[in-house]
Amino acid sequence: MKKILSLLLILALLLALAPAALAADARDDGTLRLVNPTHFVSAEFQPSDLVNYNTNQRLREPAAKALREMLTDMKAAGIKPPTLTSGYRSYSRQQELFSGRLSGRIKGGLSYAEAYKQTARYTAVPGTSEHQLGLAADLSYGSLSDAFGSTAAGKWLKANSWRYGFILRYEAAKEKYTGIANEPWHYRYLGKPHAAIVTQNKWCLEEYFNYLSEKKAIDYYEPAQNVAWEILRTTTPELYQSNVYSVSSDNCGEYIVTIRHSCTLAAQPILVDGRSLQLDACCIDGNNYFRLRDVAGALSGTAAAFAVDWDGTVNIRTGTNAGADNSAASFKAVKVSFPDTVTHVNGRTAALETVQLVAADGGAYTYYKLRDLGQALGFAVDWNQAERQIAIQTY
Ligand SMILES: [Zn+2]
Repeated sequence: MKKILSLLLILALLLALAPAALAADARDDGTLRLVNPTHFVSAEFQPSDLVNYNTNQRLREPAAKALREMLTDMKAAGIKPPTLTSGYRSYSRQQELFSGRLSGRIKGGLSYAEAYKQTARYTAVPGTSEHQLGLAADLSYGSLSDAFGSTAAGKWLKANSWRYGFILRYEAAKEKYTGIANEPWHYRYLGKPHAAIVTQNKWCLEEYFNYLSEKKAIDYYEPAQNVAWEILRTTTPELYQSNVYSVSSDNCGEYIVTIRHSCTLAAQPILVDGRSLQLDACCIDGNNYFRLRDVAGALSGTAAAFAVDWDGTVNIRTGTNAGADNSAASFKAVKVSFPDTVTHVNGRTAALETVQLVAADGGAYTYYKLRDLGQALGFAVDWNQAERQIAIQTY
């Protein structure tokens, strides 16, 4: 009995030590899987939404759609579009290509080791080609060559592909991260907004994944589109349900969840104890957020007056006049993010959701939901139907 118990104990310990398998998420669209010399695709993997792009080549549907749009716009810009010469590539095709090029180099006089090394620089070892994802596009006017990068099309693609969700995947300067030599013809579809983030940060895909692996999140703001993106790397994608734009496993053991927030900035009229004033509001997904200092200014001299200071956490002290006047100038944000701000009210932590807006001069401002603040600080927030305004009542 004792022996059985100790065996059971060992078994329980082994189970506890085994890495937890990542639960599948039905929303996984697979567009953000990393495939490179150290991150493999299984031999059996084949995407389910491959479509014919031309007579010889297939791509996954979202990549095909984005590529068509990109090449149509290139043509409209007066540049002859290149051809998709290689799209989806099966595992067996990768095997054929690799062994063909390897034996060619051996016949050319190289040793096996040298031939393998040379081949692997330009041709993916089977299972390490992102062409198997159906999200990679080799674009050219014939045979693949470095000269493509200097053509009008090569330059246009390098400058504009991110707008369509593509990145130039292999650049000479990034070979230390990608393990692949310069390939000016190879574009990888990531979708929005990831291609924009990678391109604007001058990253390669590996660097983007390193960043997400370390920081777990990145925010990206598109003022012209009124969109604020929140990107999270997580093992529990099911926790995110609101405003989710896409979910993708990353082939590195986690998921990347992309959240799309509508985000508009506008002056908002407010009644404070019957007195009318205007505050700059940031409307996120239909909820108005207000700058804390503006609210403090608006409530100065009322029964709900409070002061704010910042020392790494936001400190609110009630019963104190802020004295500050609210700024009526319309605010232009260059960055919108969703940090986990710690807020103290009279020394005690208050669980308040915040949005941070950064101005062109670098000034950062924390915004709160008015109703949340009312609950934490003891003032009433209502909708005044007659005036069609938000109304604050402090007494
Ligand atoms: Zn390629």
